[in-house]
Amino acid sequence: MHLLVIEDDPKLQQMLQRLLGGDQHIVELADDASSGIELAQDVPGIEAVILDVGLPDRSGFEVAAELRRRGNRVPILMLTARDTIGDRVSGLDAGADDYLVKPFAYAELVARLRALARRSNGAPVLAGTRLVIGPITLDDGRREVSVDGRRIQLTPREFSLLEFLMRHPGQALTRDQLLDHAWPFGSFLTTNAVDAYVHYLRDKLGPPAARRIETVRGVGYRMADG
Ligand code: CA
Repeated sequence: MHLLVIEDDPKLQQMLQRLLGGDQHIVELADDASSGIELAQDVPGIEAVILDVGLPDRSGFEVAAELRRRGNRVPILMLTARDTIGDRVSGLDAGADDYLVKPFAYAELVARLRALARRSNGAPVLAGTRLVIGPITLDDGRREVSVDGRRIQLTPREFSLLEFLMRHPGQALTRDQLLDHAWPFGSFLTTNAVDAYVHYLRDKLGPPAARRIETVRGVGYRMADG
């Protein structure tokens, strides 16, 4: 994989470069937010970003938000030393796709990166399937979503969440089901993350399309197909 590591700790930087490089990954390095954003935008073919939350100039949350604002949809794996729900939700809201709490095992980092890349490539789904519910159209093959014909930009995680909902129209899905589908390697996350993502998804869909994702009290969420 072609990876971008945005991390200011020289020890961790060196370790990641040595291990990832040894596994035949191509690694670009940035040690602050501004050079990280520049590299993410300018270097072609980057497949995933490993992003530290604590950077000297701006936070990793701001980096993720800035990349999404610029329409960059590269999968982002956030690294944080702080293991709190608040931090995780901020990161997910900012546009990160997954989380890893420091210190982490290298094998787990690699597993997460593979999962992110697989989902963003859309490999497991049938190519060219188009799902249409009300004003929302989801094109699997192209990984595109539009509302009333207007394209909207989703992160890989938001996309798989919406896809799962649209593949089960009219069905109440539990937070655990949604979590299992969209976070196969993220079992450490709580179901609060699902709420954060649904919130984000509704925001991007905008009214009235957002109302299609109904909250089912005591259960989870449902895509209304009527
Ligand atoms: Ca740091």
